[in-house]
Amino acid sequence: MLFTGTVPGVEGHVGYLAGRYRNGALSDVWTDVSRCAERTFTAWVAGCSCGWYGTGRPLTTVGQFAARRQWATEHLAGVLADATGVVTTSATG
Ligand SMILES: [Zn+2]
Repeated sequence: MLFTGTVPGVEGHVGYLAGRYRNGALSDVWTDVSRCAERTFTAWVAGCSCGWYGTGRPLTTVGQFAARRQWATEHLAGVLADATGVVTTSATG
C-alpha cells in the first residue's frame, strides 16, 4: 500500500505501509500488506523507498494512519529541510 501524494522536492521518496513479520523482519515496498492473511504481522510500520522505516504502530486502521503520518511529518519533513536548507522544527543538540 503506497502512500500517495508525493511532495515536490522529495522525488525518490515513496512511502508505503510495511508490516512487521513475527520474526521481526519488515515487508518491502512490493508487498501489498492489505492482501496478507490476518496475524501475518505484529505491527504496521511506515517505510520509504529510500530505506527509512518508522516505528511500529498497532495493527488497526488508526495505526495505519499513524504510520502514514509519521512518514509525512517526521521523514518527509526532514528530507525537505535537508533539500531546502530550511529547518521547520526547532533544532536539537
Ligand atoms: Zn525517504
